[in-house]
Amino acid sequence: MSYVINDPTDFAEEAAAGFVAAHRSLVRRVPGGVARAGATPAGQVAVVIGGGSGHYPAFAGLVGPGLAHGAAMGDVFASPSAHRVHGVARAVASDAGVLLSYGNYAGDVLNFDAAEAQLHAEGIPCRTVRVTDDIFSAGREEREKRRGIAGDLTVFRAASWAAEAGHDLDGVFDLASHANERTRSLGVAFSGCTLPGAGEPLFTVPAGQMGVGMGIHGEPGIDIRPRPSADELGRMFVAELLAERPDDVPDARGARVAVVLNGLGAVKSEELFVIYGTVARELEAAGVVIVDPEVGEYATSFEMAGVSLTLFWLDDELERAWSSPAYAPAYRKGVVDAAAAAATEALDADTAEALDEDEPLIVAAGSEASIAAAGTVRRILDALRETLDAEADALGRLDAIAGDGDHGIGMQRGSRAAAAAAGHGQLAIAGAGTVLARAGDAWADQGGGTSGALWGAGLRAAGLRIGDAEAPDASAVAAAVDAARAVVQSAGKAEPGDKTLVDALVPFAESLRRRIDAGETLAAAWDGAAQDAQTAADATALLVPRLGRARPHAAKSVGTPDPGAISFALAMNAAARVLAARVLADKEET
Ligand code: ADP
Ligand code: MG
Repeated sequence: MSYVINDPTDFAEEAAAGFVAAHRSLVRRVPGGVARAGATPAGQVAVVIGGGSGHYPAFAGLVGPGLAHGAAMGDVFASPSAHRVHGVARAVASDAGVLLSYGNYAGDVLNFDAAEAQLHAEGIPCRTVRVTDDIFSAGREEREKRRGIAGDLTVFRAASWAAEAGHDLDGVFDLASHANERTRSLGVAFSGCTLPGAGEPLFTVPAGQMGVGMGIHGEPGIDIRPRPSADELGRMFVAELLAERPDDVPDARGARVAVVLNGLGAVKSEELFVIYGTVARELEAAGVVIVDPEVGEYATSFEMAGVSLTLFWLDDELERAWSSPAYAPAYRKGVVDAAAAAATEALDADTAEALDEDEPLIVAAGSEASIAAAGTVRRILDALRETLDAEADALGRLDAIAGDGDHGIGMQRGSRAAAAAAGHGQLAIAGAGTVLARAGDAWADQGGGTSGALWGAGLRAAGLRIGDAEAPDASAVAAAVDAARAVVQSAGKAEPGDKTLVDALVPFAESLRRRIDAGETLAAAWDGAAQDAQTAADATALLVPRLGRARPHAAKSVGTPDPGAISFALAMNAAARVLAARVLADKEET
């Protein structure tokens, strides 16, 4: 739990501000996160990392020479929005382009991919390396599905070393990918963590037990086992990871390996040293040569009691990268060459100011009918906000069963931002389409996570389809809903049956279309479709998740409905009530 807190919703932002104040000589605020204090030298690829808050020193503490050029920062345990990733990348990109690198989580993938697409569209070369070191989160044959945990550090180090050594973007990508291929981790948890302001931990581990294969977002372990002694734990770590050697390392004997023993938050340094003693002994007994081990906190999960071990199987180049100097707020190694550090010329004041400017609010005026229809859009967004506010705790608890527990706060933040954006004074003369699209952008930016990105993209697509020319009739509304469905499916790649919000969205869109084609009024059709969405969402309880954060916890998830499908159905029912009320009001008027 957090002992020191103001308003929980401001926690990540306040922590970021204090972090920058504490490290002014090393980092500066940029839109969406932090960057090295100095600019990226011309010709040098910029390495942009990022993820949710709550993992310090990942990610902001790993910005500096020898490490990243910038870090995009999301809310607590929520991916930064595409807008934030883009903001950081723009702030640090030189002419040589940007390498994005982050732990492989669905929400981060969606948002970083969207940012990458935007950078491409702007002519900024960009490539991505996702860290997939967690051996317990998927089998060997599905390595690309594995999550990223403390192995982030080794991949970031390789990427930054290559960038600073002057490799071009493809070269940086190749070395970072190779580092990821050579990085394997395994984590255990003895207790869950509690989000700032929350009354209960995200999950608990029964006394005397430990969760094996825990995630760094408070996802529970994949396997529950009796808690071993420190020696037994160290031996288990080494045995599991030696068995998971990369394919191109045929023999552990003689191999040179960097070792990272990472505390997740509540395990003390001395306890880590006790485990490390065993780890070192076991590795040496297996003939492994340990190179520059790190014992401490590199990727945490608030105050979770947990430990992870990472083995980074080196070759000559990777070893040069791993052993090179670094100077970041939370990671320092060797002596950073003063000349190299100074090569990051200071930003001139004009550039800094230009970067801080918010995007101007461009408002397209709509037809009178569309401006009137925007009133209904606003009332619907307000209703969504109210419902999602009221259900935030329940949705969070649902997400905590097999996910990371943030679905409630994510939907709350997103719907609040959307309603606020729609009510923005400058949108007063905007048509329904613009209001909806703007609301979507705000949702994506503030909601974070997988669902924030998808809801944002969906609302935006619906808004673009509706446009500002005329008031949408029932058929236009059905088309807009289908446009949202299409964009959500193409961004998230989920099909019905994967146990995601798509399981409620697809039946909703189909039912709405069918009912409207059959001649029902919009209000009646929407109400019927919302009930169908609810039935479909409830039915997800029987499904096994194939995508998203819940996938590694498939067994735990069965019997519980998908949180994203449930929140979608709640939202559509709230909207149905607004449409029904509007019909009543119209009747009273006539
Ligand atoms: P995160 O998973 O990033 O923590 P949230 O907790 O806010 O994000 O949202 C979780 C929900 O997102 C899931 O319950 C599921 O409905 C939805 N989801 C996850 N992955 C996908 C996907 N690939 N496509 C569609 N929806 C998804
Ligand atoms: Mg979640």
